[in-house]
Amino acid sequence: MNKIEHLGIAVKDLAASEQIFQDLLGTTPYKREEVASEGVLTSFFMIGDSKIELLQATSEDSPIAQFIDKKGEGIHHIAFDVSDIYGEISRLQKLGYTMIHKVPKAGADGKIIAFLHPKSSNRVLVELCQDVPK
Ligand code: ZN
Repeated sequence: MNKIEHLGIAVKDLAASEQIFQDLLGTTPYKREEVASEGVLTSFFMIGDSKIELLQATSEDSPIAQFIDKKGEGIHHIAFDVSDIYGEISRLQKLGYTMIHKVPKAGADGKIIAFLHPKSSNRVLVELCQDVPK
């Protein structure tokens, strides 16, 4: 694991939350991107070398809608940058951790991603992400 790549924050109203984080961070979001496979609309802020990802559900069966139903808005996941996502997945599985995605999938912001099941990691949803090799 190289660094914390971003924190994902589940929000109900993306525009309202963009304003809040714009006020907090003193910078504007650098992109909005829909990830249809996850049923989310995302908005990204760069802060130093790390990012904040705001996530708003685009459908009622989106994982973000389910999260907000259960827990309300707030920190949803922590994402770590990795150099070899396939190697990390197999390393963690060998150690007995449960992956939600055993094979990486396309995520937002030009990444391939895989989530670790939160039951494996103190109820913290962990995302592994890697820049898509060019
Ligand atoms: Zn994320």
